[in-house]
Amino acid sequence: MVSRVIPVSSFDFVLFGATGDLARRKILPALFHRFQIGQFGENCRIIGTSRSELTTEEFRSQTADAVREFGQDVETTPEEIAAFTALLDYAAVDVRGETGWDAIRGKLRDDAVRAFYLSVGPSLFTDIARRLSETGIATPDSRIVLEKPFGHDLASARALNGALRAHFEEQQIYRIDHYLGKETVQNLMALRFANSLFEPLWNSSHIDHVQITVAESIGVEGRGEYYDKSGAMRDMVQNHLMQLLCLTAMEPPAQFAPNSVRDEKVKVIEALRPVSQASIARGQYRSRNSDENGDGYRDHAGNAASRTESYIALKVEVANWRWAGTPFYLRTGKRLRERVSEIAVYFRDPPHNIFEGSGPVHGNVLVIRLQPDEGITLKTTIKDPGPGGMRLTGANLDMTFADELAESGRPQDAYERLIMDVIRGNQTLFMRGDEVEAAWAWTDPIIGGWKDAGDTPQPYDSGSSGPDDSLLLIHRDDRQWRGIGA
Ligand code: NAP
Repeated sequence: MVSRVIPVSSFDFVLFGATGDLARRKILPALFHRFQIGQFGENCRIIGTSRSELTTEEFRSQTADAVREFGQDVETTPEEIAAFTALLDYAAVDVRGETGWDAIRGKLRDDAVRAFYLSVGPSLFTDIARRLSETGIATPDSRIVLEKPFGHDLASARALNGALRAHFEEQQIYRIDHYLGKETVQNLMALRFANSLFEPLWNSSHIDHVQITVAESIGVEGRGEYYDKSGAMRDMVQNHLMQLLCLTAMEPPAQFAPNSVRDEKVKVIEALRPVSQASIARGQYRSRNSDENGDGYRDHAGNAASRTESYIALKVEVANWRWAGTPFYLRTGKRLRERVSEIAVYFRDPPHNIFEGSGPVHGNVLVIRLQPDEGITLKTTIKDPGPGGMRLTGANLDMTFADELAESGRPQDAYERLIMDVIRGNQTLFMRGDEVEAAWAWTDPIIGGWKDAGDTPQPYDSGSSGPDDSLLLIHRDDRQWRGIGA
């Protein structure tokens, strides 16, 4: 399979927070890769900015280091890196101040797409949006790109959306959830809507339940103070897991176009039933050390009395015609057994087993794996090969994208595709303002519920599958979680 590279039009990409962690680890390497495969058209430029007083040469040199360090094992030559960094420019600006903006404006051209990427803390979003608008740097055609978090509750999300829309139209605003840029997530849509096999079965008559898991093996080391104000529900469920739920549950959009897709996603969120506290399990990883230098969640958060969850599991119901009676179980946590993100769709057992005495019929499970090893697996029941009569066993139909895509080179990082979509002006894989607000409107009462009840998360061991309560959550429905890393 050979991929086609369609060059994008000439652009000026202004990267706020260009010296920060995200810019160095993800955004600059992603830009380099698309440059390397020839996707940059004529005259594309990247203008880095932050408060640090760097010369353009220093920024180029830092970027070359970042590309070499975080470039995903891609072979590069010094000539390629030099050609890429020649496109870079730099201007120092404190975005809370008035100075420095003229320098940015002086570097921009009238005939190129302008994209402003805000790789900075969320407290700076509105300052930057306002100044870009007031200084005339942002044109009606410019795009502004934001990283999560988009608020920490409904009120703050509304305030942020309002402040952005005072200066930019909704079709100029690109809210990134990098999960949507993953190959497998887009393949979920292709699988559902470009094949006739699955869609007729994609409903509660044929699907028993769905499990969505985003498990991380690392803890909150290094960002504990930030995380403690957020927790797994805000940090992961409200955005990433919600997006995966929407793409799994949504109706077929009329077309693969930004508002068609996003309209359908919003309908799913609006159909979510409120979740009772009995359908939630919250956990906090505990220390592996019994001495004073513990490495449990509370040590990392620097808060010995923290009630913030590093793990959450929920049973979620989508109250509409298609899904009534098919629960979605969501779970995400830190310091779990393995790092894995997947959607597992459990089909109902056959209505009648004609093979009695031949071993169990293994229910079909379709697993869409986001990480590691992006791919899709369908668990089936087959005859155990060889002599011995009709004996049944389970077998997987397996497609790992790395194998399938071997000829077209390495798997793409999600940021690559999303940044190119920004330049192309395609918002399909970005969250619309009302979508973010609908997600918070569903999330807020859940968080409020456990706050009001004074609930404390249940401790769980690092390296385990989470707290015992999460097992009960699914066992009482006579179901069980897929093993993490199964
Ligand atoms: P970071 O490492 O702290 O970088 C922040 C950047 O903002 C630095 O370049 C900093 O440079 C610049 N900056 C800070 N204050 C400024 C000001 N007043 N004026 C101009 N520039 C300023 O943060 P990060 O980890 O890259 O995260 C950036 C954003 O992405 C955050 O919203 C974060 O939540 C989000 N995010 C990050 C990740 C990740 O993996 N890191 C993942 C998902 C989302 P100077 O100090 O030189 O000004």
